[in-house]
Amino acid sequence: MNIVLLGPPGAGKGTQAELLQERYGLVQLSTGDMLRAAGASGTELGRQAKAVMDAGQLVSDEIMVGIISQRLDAPDCQAGFILDGFPRTVAQAEALDAMLTQKGLKLDCVVEMAVDEAILADRIAGRAADAGSQARSDPRSDDTIEVVTKRLEVYRAQTAPILPFYKERGLLKTVDGMATIDEVAKSIETVLEVA
Ligand code: AMP
Repeated sequence: MNIVLLGPPGAGKGTQAELLQERYGLVQLSTGDMLRAAGASGTELGRQAKAVMDAGQLVSDEIMVGIISQRLDAPDCQAGFILDGFPRTVAQAEALDAMLTQKGLKLDCVVEMAVDEAILADRIAGRAADAGSQARSDPRSDDTIEVVTKRLEVYRAQTAPILPFYKERGLLKTVDGMATIDEVAKSIETVLEVA
């Protein structure tokens, strides 16, 4: 089973992707985690990506498509994968379509985690405060309120247009992302059962 998880920053995609990984034995492909690892490794690409991420902007489609295409060729993806954070633009969604066809693969379901943006802003502000006070052991450098506000704007402008793209293809399922973690996980399982 090959799945895309869609939703704004702070919707809980990473948490749900981890649960799906355990529940179905799928591999979680988080482009944000891949870019943070590249940033930490100090390569030129990693340094450039970190600067873009810290500004709340998107890394170029060309780089992201290349990273995902290469990653999908790894043997662990054969059992199925969950894309968490990719695609993030219509161009990435189109490129994903083309690369999956070329690799003889297809998506089974695109799950949108719908959230109330006002509540989400509070949730993210809490995460930013935790990061600021170092209450988190792994603070993200893009978790300040200013950067998160920018990331939400970028989501609305560049990522939300992917929703109709997948709706037209009959792949889009929407779950209530504001429920508890367990409830969201159950809703996702339910939509996957019929996918
Ligand atoms: P995330 O961990 O998914 O919230 O991603 C953190 C940051 O990494 C984003 O704000 C972007 O700067 C960058 N990023 C992650 N995935 C992508 C993608 N598919 N396309 C462009 N930039 C991305």
